Amino acid sequence: MLRLVSLFLFVGLALARHEVYDGYGLYKVSVKSADQIELVNHLSSSLDLDVWSHALPGRDGQVLVPKETKVLFENELKAAGVEFTIETDNIKELLDLEDQLHAEALQKSNGSRLESLPFDQIYTYHQVDTFLELLAAAHPETVTLVNAGKSFEGRDIKYIKISSTNFEDTRKPIVFMESLLHAREWITLPATLYAIHKLVIDVTEQDLVRDIDWIILPIANPDGYVHTHGEFRLWRKNRSTNYGPLCTGVDLNRNFDVFWGQASSNIACSDTFHGAAPFSEPETAIIKTIYDQYSSRIELFLDIHSFGSMILYGYGDGSLPPSALMLHLLGVQMAQAIDAVKMSWNPNYVVGNVALVLYQASGSAGDYALAVGVPYSYTYELPGHRFGIGGLGFLVDPAFIEQAGFETWEGIKTGARFVRDNFKKKHL
Ligand SMILES: [Zn+2]
Repeated sequence: MLRLVSLFLFVGLALARHEVYDGYGLYKVSVKSADQIELVNHLSSSLDLDVWSHALPGRDGQVLVPKETKVLFENELKAAGVEFTIETDNIKELLDLEDQLHAEALQKSNGSRLESLPFDQIYTYHQVDTFLELLAAAHPETVTLVNAGKSFEGRDIKYIKISSTNFEDTRKPIVFMESLLHAREWITLPATLYAIHKLVIDVTEQDLVRDIDWIILPIANPDGYVHTHGEFRLWRKNRSTNYGPLCTGVDLNRNFDVFWGQASSNIACSDTFHGAAPFSEPETAIIKTIYDQYSSRIELFLDIHSFGSMILYGYGDGSLPPSALMLHLLGVQMAQAIDAVKMSWNPNYVVGNVALVLYQASGSAGDYALAVGVPYSYTYELPGHRFGIGGLGFLVDPAFIEQAGFETWEGIKTGARFVRDNFKKKHL
């Protein structure tokens, strides 16, 4: 009964939600040349548009455009000969649909879920927090829960360590992965939770626990994430209010101490605002402490983002680390492992240097890992899974939550075993 009441409350709330996005159109943009890429990028930044994915020749981009800017945006594209189609004229309707799909999934789900966490819904901060607590209590032999500190708004940031030897065997490499550094990228959470599931609850491949130590941080940006469960589903940054009354939040993936400020925004309202200084934000400072403690043993770092079906590596200025060839090789292997089991309508993963594939970006978590000596560091951009009429970026259809976890795990396993084998050779 309580569930029914809360379902009605949820649906009732859903109808009144997402007003801030009313009338926003989502445009699919196709570019054919470097000049057209440049034009779309320039237009997007001068009109302060929310670029969901950057257009490349052969791969469409998606741009969210407010109601009052649509005509101007369309005219500029037409004048430059850039092809576009309108995915939806009002993103609010699809955000409402997302709420409805999730409410239905919740209704179908059968109880006692926090111990086993079935992959049929996107869990809230509190649900994940409870799950991690229960998991650590139920599996003290392999799981250690670490409360690493507080977010800007005072939420606990917790990660788990998974080890068959209590992190004491220094001959083992560490794989470190995190999700939700960007708040709206909901589909990234099932990827880390699925990994936890396969390493602790449903262990079918013993070598992964026997030979490797794991650090998994499911919610790297809790304040932003909680914010996306309220009125602002498409929020990306953290929730720092240190930068004046008008603009909230720092892009945490531009706040790390590596080329900081070179290719990011110094405007607080921007979605790529880099903050006052490297590690000015508690969320990134906490991740730094993980490297301070473990960097000599972290062999693989995976920063899970969405969307675009890409595996990217540094550096963000286009320069390549000495390990570039091996980085690329392992990137391709992980991509192939995912492509082998992906949904047929999603494109194959693209692998490459982030600046060469996409755009320059400084101060990223992935680059910081490379800079402190982690040999294999990648940003995964998971696919935008099918949603109603097509792949709709950040929106999550509950029907594909398990698939997202399952297919990404194939890539993660490939990476983990590769670094395990290489770490052994290094230490013979
Ligand atoms: Zn992201």
